[in-house]
Amino acid sequence: MSATPRKEGRVIVIGASLAGSMAAIELARAGLRVTLIDKESFPRRKPCGEGLSARGQAELTAAGCSLNELSCEHRPLDGYRIFHGSRSLEIPDEAGLVGISRIELDNRLISYAARFPSIDIVLGGKASVVESRIGHCKVRARGCDFVGGTLIVADGAASPTIRSLGRTVRAPRLPRLGTSSSWGLVRGELLSKVHTVLVRGGEIYLTPLANGVVNVSALGDRSLIQPFAQERSLRVRVDAIAEMIGVSLEPMYAPLSCGAINTYYRGASIHGAYVVGDACETFDPCAGFGMAHALLTGRLAAQFVTRGLGELAPDTVLRAYELEREDRIRDVRGFTRLTSATMTSGIGRMSLPLLVSTGLAARVSSSVHDTHGPDLVRRLVSLLGGRSLSPHAEAMTAS
Ligand SMILES: Cc1cc2nc3c(=O)[nH]c(=O)nc-3n(C[C@H](O)[C@H](O)[C@H](O)COP(=O)(O)OP(=O)(O)OC[C@H]3O[C@@H](n4cnc5c(N)ncnc54)[C@H](O)[C@@H]3O)c2cc1C
Repeated sequence: MSATPRKEGRVIVIGASLAGSMAAIELARAGLRVTLIDKESFPRRKPCGEGLSARGQAELTAAGCSLNELSCEHRPLDGYRIFHGSRSLEIPDEAGLVGISRIELDNRLISYAARFPSIDIVLGGKASVVESRIGHCKVRARGCDFVGGTLIVADGAASPTIRSLGRTVRAPRLPRLGTSSSWGLVRGELLSKVHTVLVRGGEIYLTPLANGVVNVSALGDRSLIQPFAQERSLRVRVDAIAEMIGVSLEPMYAPLSCGAINTYYRGASIHGAYVVGDACETFDPCAGFGMAHALLTGRLAAQFVTRGLGELAPDTVLRAYELEREDRIRDVRGFTRLTSATMTSGIGRMSLPLLVSTGLAARVSSSVHDTHGPDLVRRLVSLLGGRSLSPHAEAMTAS
């Protein structure tokens, strides 16, 4: 049975998370009609480390929906504390990183979008593209066809839309899988920092959020992630890490996992459609730029779509969007142009296998502390699969 077109929307947006909702809000402010579609119903959970950089917040503010405007609770953080072997070091972030719950942020943003009469929101229906070319698109969801003049693809890292349009989403040589869960702080004080534990095969992040909630996320290869994705083995590992940091945590939300996040399309357009957020390119969360990129590109695409309805040819404007995006994200590109953070301290010079963006590495200050004894490190190592920590860790311990 073929679906009948029911609704005309000037712009159809697939994916109503940060990138998609942001695009819809910016378009509505410019007076355009939008159909915003997501396969989930909100509020919904999303695997994430929940560290929102100052750049991400600046995008929200510029779109008129700052965290305060959204009434979204958040915890100000002042940088990262990185644990590696028996040492830790601190990377400051004076710019204003915050810990923020994605259930809340995503829900507040889509609720904000829902206030615009020109935005139609369609939830709980997987969207599939029927037609897409410059100046025209038809998208099917929940048995209806939605027809518009422009398509924005904002459906995340695995982007089924990009795949369905016949383009390859480049598979990484070493897939980095992700998982996250929420915990309550029952004892101790967590510094206002993202606590990052570097282990062979990946990283574990503890991000303090508002109201004593702590997000525990892990990114890495399958052998690291699998135990973090299962409630029982996760508990043992989180207890050991919490002990190392000097706190005690109780589980609140079970772990949520996702596939490889370092797959990327790395193209900001496809068949006349604008591609935004993770659907376009994923970033190393260590630099906290995933959410910022989603918000930035959502807004940027909307601004170019609006421009494309004026004098200029839509394909010229689409190309201009691609170039502008490249320009804006060059300094924080993750996964693809990474650098190691090299730090000098009282114990000498060392290079960590911490892959951070060049922008962040440039801001690294040299603060290295002995934080915990070899016994706890050994326990952690055996918990994390009996493998040794990376050669860097041993070099650090020996130095
Ligand atoms: C473990 C982990 C930790 C992370 N930590 C951080 C961090 O601390 N800081 C940071 O800035 N970033 C972090 N990130 C990255 C961040 O989560 C993403 O960059 C961000 O969510 C991208 O937003 P988006 O709107 O592009 O896509 P997503 O948030 O992935 O949203 C895509 C949306 O599209 C919808 N969708 C998918 N397919 C369809 C379809 N066919 N039809 C309709 N809807 C569809 C989905 O339901 C979803 O709502 C982390 C990611 C992971 C996995």
